[in-house]
Amino acid sequence: MTAEITIPKSAAKMTGATDPALAGFAGPAARLNLIGLTRPELSDAVAALGVPPRQRKMRVSQLWRWIYNRGAGSFDAMSDLGKALRQALADSHSIGRPAIATTQQSTDGTIKWLLRLADGNDIEMVYIPDQDHGALCISSQVGCTLNCRFCHTGTMPLVRNLTAGEILGQFMLARDCLDDWPDADGLRKISTIVMMGMGEPLLNYDNVAKALAIIMDMEGIALSRRSITLSTAGLVPAMERCGRELRVNLAVSLHAVTDLVRDQLVPLNRRYPLAELIQACRDYPSANNARRITFEYVMLQEVNDSLEDAHELVRLLRGIPAKINLIPFNPWPGAPYECSSNNRIHRFAAILNDAGYAAPVRTPRGRDIMAACGQLKSASEKTPALRRRPG
Ligand code: SAH
Repeated sequence: MTAEITIPKSAAKMTGATDPALAGFAGPAARLNLIGLTRPELSDAVAALGVPPRQRKMRVSQLWRWIYNRGAGSFDAMSDLGKALRQALADSHSIGRPAIATTQQSTDGTIKWLLRLADGNDIEMVYIPDQDHGALCISSQVGCTLNCRFCHTGTMPLVRNLTAGEILGQFMLARDCLDDWPDADGLRKISTIVMMGMGEPLLNYDNVAKALAIIMDMEGIALSRRSITLSTAGLVPAMERCGRELRVNLAVSLHAVTDLVRDQLVPLNRRYPLAELIQACRDYPSANNARRITFEYVMLQEVNDSLEDAHELVRLLRGIPAKINLIPFNPWPGAPYECSSNNRIHRFAAILNDAGYAAPVRTPRGRDIMAACGQLKSASEKTPALRRRPG
């Protein structure tokens, strides 16, 4: 069962528009959005408004704190900037987040947002609450080019990279909607970020890196690299760079233990076969026993779920600090696979456990609203969601 949930008024206000679905469209879309700019880029932006060189560093640091620490949704709130500068900024810039087209809440508490970007494309973002914390699942591209055969996102024809501002804007918006900026009481509702939404983050490395650097910046959002997990289908050349530069946790969508099967499931394997992928995991700079690489393994009946596959998986991962996340296949209309039986999944897990690996079976979250792994697909190429909405 799905339910529309009400967006808190404060969140609507923060998007800078009365109707959150229109935020980022009327006016602000044409303006330079400050979200996602580096400090030097922000400095250029204030310089263009006539701020003299000796004041720029201070102004940038004030703006940075307002935007990323306080979560300000308008320039009006930035009391120490001076009225003239606030006005100049409001006239030519924005701090708008992606617009919300629809919000759905699962019976298990998972929330899925369909977000509308300034160019009219849609992406999805998912919040997965747990007892006293929660994970935010962020998209890195509109659609995906990799065409993994079991993944719904891969069936979207339209693909483009998200900008750093659009990636970061998802996080900002989720904090607005969940009332999760630091001045709110209590524990952070978003405690971890998983780059596991639509798209292959390593194919959009520069923008993902820029957004994550801002999320990890100590004077702003200050989320630690240990709270961030980036999931890749195995873009080998970018994995080393990710480990060296971003040093976030790595998750690898493995899904098969032979090239024969993996070539079918994850066509990227034809370019970077298992031996190269596994070597890149061995070399991943930040991996150690405290920070193991997560291997995602979708359980597909009669495709990759034999007990022999489990033994081969153990052999393949030998020596890598690893944990294995078994993901029951989440069905979608027209999918050419079925999920392995519970019994099979648990026997598979037992073999991994016996070999000393943690192998939790991922509880599907938000299946009723098509928010679970691999179910995300927006209708960018079809009728825009706004026009489909009743009324
Ligand atoms: N492109 C990245 C990010 C996507 S993460 C990657 O491939 O890792 C989403 C995870 O869900 C990936 O592990 C993906 O392989 C998995 N997945 C995709 N479709 C699925 C489905 N229908 N059921 C379960 N898991 C799925």
